[in-house]
Amino acid sequence: MERGSSLRCYLCDTVLRNNDQSRSNHMRNFWKSSDDPTRCDNVQISLNRRIVTVPLITMPVEVDPVVSMARRRPSTWHREREVRSRYAVKQCEVSTVDAQDLTLIQNRWDEKLTELSQLNDSKFWRLFLAMYTLSGTAIDSALNVVKKMFMSEVDPKRFPISRRSLLEKMGTLTPFWPQVLHTTRIDLSRFELPSGTKEICFKFVDPIWGWLVAARRQHPLELHWKPLAQRLGRELYGQGIHCGQLFKHACASVPRGSFPMCVGLHWDGTGAHGLSSSPICVCVGNSNSCKSDTQFCIGYMPHVPDEKKPEWTKLVSATTVKWYIRQQCAAAILKVLEEAACRGIKCRLSNQHNEEVIRLLYPRLTSMNLTNLRRNVSSACRISSGARSAGEEGVAVHLRNAKDMTSRTYLVYL
Ligand SMILES: [Zn+2]
Repeated sequence: MERGSSLRCYLCDTVLRNNDQSRSNHMRNFWKSSDDPTRCDNVQISLNRRIVTVPLITMPVEVDPVVSMARRRPSTWHREREVRSRYAVKQCEVSTVDAQDLTLIQNRWDEKLTELSQLNDSKFWRLFLAMYTLSGTAIDSALNVVKKMFMSEVDPKRFPISRRSLLEKMGTLTPFWPQVLHTTRIDLSRFELPSGTKEICFKFVDPIWGWLVAARRQHPLELHWKPLAQRLGRELYGQGIHCGQLFKHACASVPRGSFPMCVGLHWDGTGAHGLSSSPICVCVGNSNSCKSDTQFCIGYMPHVPDEKKPEWTKLVSATTVKWYIRQQCAAAILKVLEEAACRGIKCRLSNQHNEEVIRLLYPRLTSMNLTNLRRNVSSACRISSGARSAGEEGVAVHLRNAKDMTSRTYLVYL
């Protein structure tokens, strides 16, 4: 669809009047595959096939520059959602499939949220959730003042006046997080560290669970499950993930009736209030949104106590240890993803009518951006169904086997 008043179907070039029924019919074609004979441009080709024309080439043929392939077709947010609304994801029959069932954990999570909201007064939650990212002192003094001035009628037990008392109260409930936590031990005995550390523990939230929590925060029309049709010979890829080859391949690699769960995995060092850490996040790759709610932090890169000593960090062996820890952490996370990528995930997610339907999703690692110790080297580049970071040390890459379409983790040395 192009520019305002004279709308044209980008597949078959038919001029469409605004609010026309045919406009809606053409939009449905955008989600059909190129070999679908009912897609509007294919219907036209079969009509035109009766006239045989032989093109006469009189001058050199101009090929579109590569830049134009990446160019975004003029569009608006409303139009994007309108096009996306032309298909709904239906409930999937997954009883016979050996998929990992996350619906039970989703039920427990929903129960936990209800329990939590009942723990305190609704007014308390409204106030607390508006300022929970602030410092502890700021939260405590705000809660105190608000309670004294405006909350005389609220039951004092249902309005904690400090973050500490809130956490204590929350601690009395059955803990949820152990159900979705993974722990791995990284053996460091061969490095003979001066601190005597033999192994470190790396704890992380299940990346699949993290993805699901972030995906449930998104508007259903922002999540893509089918590749957008491309006009043959006039492909444009810059519009979003749903136009790209990566997404197309991911969709082609999953069984019929299921959809790809596009997972991005990345980490980067950061620092605030005198503390530095390297959060590891998963992101929802089925969306074109770049908002922070598409991300979920699954854990933090572990460190050895020796890193506090500046004389040790200058050694070459310190870099080797750091890289080794990163490799092992990446491998542990990819192992979880790999198992899910083979078996599939049964979960509940809203479709465009805001109805939660059971779906079968297959995780596909679509990007993996790692920070690099040598920042002058390009830190991240995307490749099909996996990603890599350039560097001297090997990096773990998740790739699909062409024969049986199963995913494997490989160590790649660049
Ligand atoms: Zn059309």
